[in-house]
Formats: sequence, C-alpha cells, structure tokens
Amino acid sequence: MDLGISGRWAIVCAASKGLGKGCAQALAAEGVNLVINARGEAALEATAAELRAAYPGITVHAVAGDITDPAVRDAVLGACPQVDILVNNAGGPPPGDFREWEEDAWLAAVRANMLTPIELMRRTVDGMAERGFGRVVNITSGAVKAPIDILGLSNGARSGLTGFVAGLARQQRLAARNVTINNLLPGAFDTDRLRKNFAIGAEKSGQSADALAQSRAKTIPSGRFGTAEEFGATCAFLCSVQAAYMTGQNVLLDGGAYPGTY
Ligand code: NAD
Repeated sequence: MDLGISGRWAIVCAASKGLGKGCAQALAAEGVNLVINARGEAALEATAAELRAAYPGITVHAVAGDITDPAVRDAVLGACPQVDILVNNAGGPPPGDFREWEEDAWLAAVRANMLTPIELMRRTVDGMAERGFGRVVNITSGAVKAPIDILGLSNGARSGLTGFVAGLARQQRLAARNVTINNLLPGAFDTDRLRKNFAIGAEKSGQSADALAQSRAKTIPSGRFGTAEEFGATCAFLCSVQAAYMTGQNVLLDGGAYPGTY
C-alpha cells in the first residue's frame, strides 16, 4: 500500500536507536524526508548515513542533542523546512520506589515525557492545520494502560501527556484540517533499553540476562518481543493519508500482553 506521504518532511526525536530509529526507517522507506535527533552524535550520524545510503531519494538532516533542551528543540525545528509529521520520543524515566523520588526526579520525567512533546506540538500543529495535513505520533508506553509499579515516573508523566493529547486531538481547528494526533504504546520491544533492563535484572537475581528475557517473552501471548521494524511500520501507517480519520487514539502494540477487552 502506498501511504501517500512521499516528499513530506518529518521530525523523529530520539531516533538513533530502538523504536525511534524504527519509525525513521519506515518513514524513509515511504519517501519521507527526515530530521532525526538523538543525544549521542556518533550513533545519530551513523543512523543518518545508513538512511541516506538505503534511501538516496530522500534528504536526512541529523541534529544531535537532548530534546528536552529548548536550544536543541530550536535546532531540530530550524532544520526542518516544514513539519508535516512529528514523532515525539525520548528516553523513559528510571525505575524505582516512589519514596526515593523527590521533586527533581518528577520534574525530569515530566519534562522528558510530557512537556517536551507538548512543546513540539505547540510549535508545529497550527502550521500543519494551515497547510491541511499533519500527523503527530507520540511514543508513550503500554504502562499508560497497565501501570508497572516500579515505573511510577513513567506511568505518571506519560499519563499526563495522554490526557492532554486526548483533548488537543479533538480540537476541530486541528481535526477538521487533516491534523491527527495519536499515541503509540509499546509493550516489550527488543531494543537496547529492554536488553539493559535484563542485564540489570541479571546482576540482581543471579540468573542470566538471556534466561530472564526468555521467561519474560513466555508471558507475552505472541511468545516474543516486538521488533523496531514492526513498531516503525505501525507509526508510518498512522502518518499515512489512509489514517486521516483516526485521531486521539492510544494504539497498543504489545503482542497481546495487555489482558483487558478494551
Ligand atoms: P532505546 O534506549 O533503544 O533508544 C533510545 C534512543 O533515544 C537513542 O537514540 C537515544 O539517543 C535517544 N534518546 C533518549 N533520550 C533522549 C533525549 N532526551 N533526547 C534525545 N534523544 C534521546 O529506547 P527504546 O526502547 O527505543 O524506547 C523508546 C521509548 O519507548 C522510551 O521512552 C521507552 O521508555 C519507551 N518504551 C520502550 C519499551 C521497549 O520495550 N523498548 C517499552 C515501553 C516503553
């Protein structure tokens, strides 16, 4: 299926690795020009080079830096001639016990996983509406639907973003101008972040990281972790012309792990 977005421009945040990279690759495969961002310059430049080599018909700009930094956001927006597609993403907050989190920990989580995406939407959605096309995909987490105890910072900050988006997406000045805003909720995906979690778990439990990964995969109805390619393909569909009537939704991609009917 031709997704109808060839020649569009997209910003993909936190895109040198993992789910953000999967989204960038899937959009590139559709002929979308990219501004990609991530903290580490070397990994980001490597991803940009990979994309340019694989998809010579598109333009790829790389802007390194922490997307929670206002100057980095300015640079990312400045590198994009027109923002047709915005994929919001940043690293997730650390796990822990809420008794140990003082205000600074909460502010960092809220800044990364709520305020930064809101600020990028604030600066782009009206332009999208003027031009009559816009797609925003916020990468959040399955923890928004099924909270994970030790990820309280993530549960809280991402739920704030989710509540805000539910209202914004339904503004007629956006929805009636072909601007859609949806959240994509990963369950367990095979990325560096997940592997790091198993490595930490292995140190604590004495079991190997592989054994922990295997027993976790068995708890998922699909019997495996998702791939960044699968995640990217769903993101690209949400950005397509075909998905124009889909807005304000929380799309769970978790191999069936969420146990509820709705
Ligand atoms: P990852 O660790 O594999 O990739 C992280 C990428 O994000 C890197 O490119 C890194 O440079 C970039 N990054 C992180 N923080 C950044 C920042 N502040 N500014 C700019 N770039 C930044 O992570 P992932 O597994 O792809 O996860 C992406 C998001 O999805 C995270 O918020 C994560 O918490 C969430 N999530 C992931 C899973 C999973 O199973 N992988 C599950 C639920 C939620």
